[in-house]
Amino acid sequence: MVAKRTSIALIALGILVFSAAAGACAAPALHDIRPGYGVTAIGWLSDYHPPLKGTPGDSRVYYLDSGVPGATVYVQGGTHGAEIAGVLAATILVERAIPTVGRLIVVPHANNANVDYKDGSIPDAPSWITVEVEGGAPRSFRYGSRRTNPAYELQPDPEVYVSPSGGQYPGNEMRNLDRVHPGRPDGALTEQIAYAIFRLLVEENVDVAFDLHEAQVTSGIANTLIAHPRAMEAAVLAILDLSMQGLNFSLEQSRDEYRGLSHWEWGNNTRALPFLIETPNPGQTTHLSNRDPVNDPVNPLHHRVGKQLALIRAVLDATALLGTPPMLYEGVPTYADLVRDGLGPWLNAPTARP
Ligand SMILES: [Zn+2]
Repeated sequence: MVAKRTSIALIALGILVFSAAAGACAAPALHDIRPGYGVTAIGWLSDYHPPLKGTPGDSRVYYLDSGVPGATVYVQGGTHGAEIAGVLAATILVERAIPTVGRLIVVPHANNANVDYKDGSIPDAPSWITVEVEGGAPRSFRYGSRRTNPAYELQPDPEVYVSPSGGQYPGNEMRNLDRVHPGRPDGALTEQIAYAIFRLLVEENVDVAFDLHEAQVTSGIANTLIAHPRAMEAAVLAILDLSMQGLNFSLEQSRDEYRGLSHWEWGNNTRALPFLIETPNPGQTTHLSNRDPVNDPVNPLHHRVGKQLALIRAVLDATALLGTPPMLYEGVPTYADLVRDGLGPWLNAPTARP
């Protein structure tokens, strides 16, 4: 009996220590994002799920409302923290897009609890990347991980992770935002992030939703658009449109084996048409000797950001053609603009030193 009591006390102590560890690093990471004239409001993911407030899983939400009726479009980068082209494409939308029809909602760091974590899968992965900008000091962006920092997670990894809709994955995938959709309101931190995003999609009545990713350059899904079955017609049109401009992407249809992934669960649980974009990131490619995620000669960051933005635009043109209200914006660079200019002129810089 004494032994049993002692072990209960030890478990209780363990829970206290674990909670304290999570609480010690409570504040969400803030990033160098410089909103442009298009931004009409700034909020938090915790506005949609208050328990996230004050945790490392909370993240900024940027609203760009034209004031003219049209579609509501949601774009998130940073599901996986190393997939930096998605983070930068979302950042450029926040800094440069001026909506003229409809509304844009952008979350550049969907899983803000992975930005300071290294899971060791890429031995020399940087913690930050640097981008030169015109008229100011270089800008730095976090280069995070695929999974939530275990120090922030509310529960230890299980042996096997079962997603809310029954997908079975290795236990550490409980900390992979793209396995835990549509989330659990009282679940692990990563599940609560997914739940906040699910509530955002529902409460904001989102018509079209994008999840921006990158893959190893040799992966079968690099340069791919993945769409829910409800969104496939628009995806086909978008791919054809881009191929006529000389930009070639593969197309994949989401299906039941993708339980817990954004493109499957958002499509099944919300009215949004969901799309997932993958561009090729040398920084994630283990067999390359030069894994530079920014200045790779074949797949430099500015080309990949251009592909992300080109796919978003082409999909929105296609959904509008097929009956979803339009969502239009100005000020966002095309693929050709980014290839010509690099990222520098398209990120905001201070106009003068203070
Ligand atoms: Zn990814």
